[in-house]
Formats: sequence, structure tokens, C-alpha cells
Amino acid sequence: MPVSVPDCIFCKIVKRDAPASIVFEDETTMAFMDIRPMIPGHTLVIPKSHAAYLEDLPKGSSGPILETARKVAAALRRSGLRCEAVNLWLANGRAAGQEVFHVHFHVLPRFHGDGFGMRAGPDYGRMPERAELESTAEKIRHAIVNQ
Ligand code: AMP
Ligand code: ZN
Repeated sequence: MPVSVPDCIFCKIVKRDAPASIVFEDETTMAFMDIRPMIPGHTLVIPKSHAAYLEDLPKGSSGPILETARKVAAALRRSGLRCEAVNLWLANGRAAGQEVFHVHFHVLPRFHGDGFGMRAGPDYGRMPERAELESTAEKIRHAIVNQ
């Protein structure tokens, strides 16, 4: 049985306590239409078990979510919807734009001229020295644990 949180809208969808237009589900994941699509075909892919953030998922359980996103991306290309390409988007934390605190990938059909864009911060474009990249990499390497 998936872990469920009572006031989580996506947990409610998993339990069929809230409506959703489901396109795929398996034992551990589900894909359904975003209620406020950024573009026709905008689909969300979630783990059935509640976790607020990507890093809260139990070790080894993130793979099936990407596998379902892969299936949805392939389906979008075959669906007849306008889809020349696909973006996967994951907002992980409030500062990254997360509004629903149950892990979800957005699977977004894209086509030339669709008007989408991702705006980078003011630091974008600079190419740091290798030493700076190494120093940043060392901080992350040091923080990686086998969890
Ligand atoms: P995020 O900002 O990444 O947390 O995105 C949350 C997404 O969930 C938004 O695109 C919402 O439109 C979508 N959403 C919220 N409630 C529902 C719902 N009941 N069914 C489908 N999508 C939803
Ligand atoms: Zn949930």
C-alpha cells in the first residue's frame, strides 16, 4: 500500500478520492493530466507513495518514475497532439517553484514557436575557471552519501 497523506491532493488522486484524467498507472507510479496545463498534453508523473521532495524518496524508488515519464513522452509524440519535443520539469522545493508538495515530474510537449522559455539568473553565460568548477564539485562530492 502506498504511503498516503490525508491533505495531499495527489495522494487523494491516487486513492480515487479526487478526480483526475489518468493516462497511465502501474504498481508504484501514476500519470495524469495537469489541471492547469501550460500547453495541451501537459502531464504529471508521480510516485504513488507520498514524498514531498525528490530526496525524500526511498533509495532505488526514483527509477520507475522516470520510466513512466519516458512512456508518457513517447506517447505524447504519437498522440496526435502538437509535440515536436518534450521537456521534463521538476520543481523541488518552494524556491524552485514547487506548489504541490508531493514529488511530480511535469512532462511538457514542446514545438517550435510555442512561446515557452526558461529564464536563467544574472550569472548565466559566465564560464568559470576550472579551479572554481573543481571547488564546487568538491563540495558536492563531499556531501554525496550512499543513502
Ligand atoms: P508545481 O509548481 O511543480 O508544484 O506544480 C503543481 C502542478 O500541479 C501545477 O501545474 C498545477 O496545475 C497542478 N495541479 C494542482 N492540483 C491538481 C489537480 N487536482 N489535478 C491535476 N493537476 C493539479
Ligand atoms: Zn501526497
